[in-house]
Amino acid sequence: MAKCSLCGATIPKGQEIPVHDLSIRATRTVVCRKCEPEMARIVQAEIESPDLARGLIFGAGAALLSSFFWYSAVRVVHSEVAYLAVIVGVVVAQGVMYGAGRKRGRRLQELSAIFTAAAMVVTVYLIIRHLAVETGVSPQQPLNWFAAVLAAWMKRDPVVLLFWGFALWQAYQSPAVRRLEPPVTS
Ligand SMILES: [Zn+2]
Repeated sequence: MAKCSLCGATIPKGQEIPVHDLSIRATRTVVCRKCEPEMARIVQAEIESPDLARGLIFGAGAALLSSFFWYSAVRVVHSEVAYLAVIVGVVVAQGVMYGAGRKRGRRLQELSAIFTAAAMVVTVYLIIRHLAVETGVSPQQPLNWFAAVLAAWMKRDPVVLLFWGFALWQAYQSPAVRRLEPPVTS
């Protein structure tokens, strides 16, 4: 039987009210009927007056840090370690939410997705450049050369697109407004 996330009471089966949250860090939150109004207030407060400027600054910082981490890993293992892009999505979303004052909402979802996409594009560019230089290729190449290398990479390892898609999805979904689901009445 589930325990209420607010008061800790054991909730009889079928009476749980789940709080919908799609972020990777989310633990399954359920509340009892007594705590439903309190949880509704908390969920509502999460979308009120987010500090967008601070969200932007923290999002940019999180994007820089996580990209730097990914790029550093590439330098150590001499491979793309493309799945590390997921970290960018997760860290940027948490940074934006935290910066905005532990808030959620559509604007923060957009900020998070934009920063994640930008960080991924820049990092992938730097990774391709770095790995090319390691094999003795000059870093001065036209953009279409980078596009061709990226295309070859995708062809060789298409599962990478799943990781990048997941990173973006995570970045966009994490700051989504939480929703209380009505209890299943049987
Ligand atoms: Zn409760």
